[in-house]
Amino acid sequence: MPPTPSPARPPSARTPFGHALAGLLDVLLPADCAGCGAERTQLCPACRHALTATRPGPTLLPWAHAAAPYADPVRQLLLAHKERGALRLAGPLGEALGRAVRSALGARAGAAPLLLVPMPSARAAVRARGHDPTLRLAGAAARSLRRAGLDARAAPLLRHARPVADQAGLNAAERRRNLHGALTVLPRARRGLAGRQPVLVDDLVTTGASLAEAARALADAGLPARAAATVAATAVHPPGRYG
Ligand SMILES: [Zn+2]
Repeated sequence: MPPTPSPARPPSARTPFGHALAGLLDVLLPADCAGCGAERTQLCPACRHALTATRPGPTLLPWAHAAAPYADPVRQLLLAHKERGALRLAGPLGEALGRAVRSALGARAGAAPLLLVPMPSARAAVRARGHDPTLRLAGAAARSLRRAGLDARAAPLLRHARPVADQAGLNAAERRRNLHGALTVLPRARRGLAGRQPVLVDDLVTTGASLAEAARALADAGLPARAAATVAATAVHPPGRYG
């Protein structure tokens, strides 16, 4: 009896080595713009403009500010960074995230050192992608805030405490119930962070239910988040503000 062939790896799954190779090619080869496909540039001026042209503002969750609406080409840039390992986009995306952090905090941005806390990725997703895109964006945002003269660092404090059901098809109240208690703060990760203002960061906010659960977890651990910031939002408040 012939040996059973091992199941084919899905095309989206990359080994860490495959990811490292892709990262190397990402640096060596001129690629097309991840936002619109324009040739011989990873981020064309028009797509860079889309990331920087809108003023960050509040989302459906008023204490969470986003840098841009979740629409192409920003959507394509986020997907290329997250799913296709376009790591050089972390810089410009992190810069946009840093602007959203400053918008969310307003005058409080310079009041105390900042602690950017990325929303945690599921371990299986990190393995499949070969990197943790949200952690990378948080680090890039902290660097851009430091360039602007603010004391900022990123720290992955949050972990999943239990698996959650697929959020698709659930309304806002059902999402909150599904997520309650889903996140926890790693006790050892908190050392040396006293006196910093925590700000939750993510690539995208939709209903805000995940950010609300993360804020609950931080508050329970004695680290109340002052604000949240994302690169993009599916809906903004008041409606049409970014239009
Ligand atoms: Zn472009």
